[in-house]
Amino acid sequence: MQNLIHYTLHLIFPALIAYVFFRKEWKKAYFILLCTLLIDIDHLFANPIFAANRCSIGFHPLHSLYIIPVYIGLLFFKKPLRIVAIGLLFHLFTDFIDCLFIFSKCKACVANNVLANFIHNILEFFGF
Ligand SMILES: [Zn+2]
Repeated sequence: MQNLIHYTLHLIFPALIAYVFFRKEWKKAYFILLCTLLIDIDHLFANPIFAANRCSIGFHPLHSLYIIPVYIGLLFFKKPLRIVAIGLLFHLFTDFIDCLFIFSKCKACVANNVLANFIHNILEFFGF
């Protein structure tokens, strides 16, 4: 189920985004959106490259919390950079949903993850 959601969001949903927001050139937009999957190249620097219970956000360099403002900044540029930004941010959103699945099954994964700690600190700050 988790995998089905993951790959639907990574591969099929971008086609919808392209068609809804860039209808005149949706094929080109879809292609650019698919290219943003390349940020997963940063997984190659991790050891092991694949770990089922690892939340990629806050772990891999191109998925770090510090790079998210850069992706948001790209939104303010013209196409095709804007499409790239949408793809990257949507990619992180997809991975984030994955992280929620992981955290719900694995308490130790929560303690080890920067994103989870970040959310925890914010909730604590506001008194939750
Ligand atoms: Zn990813």
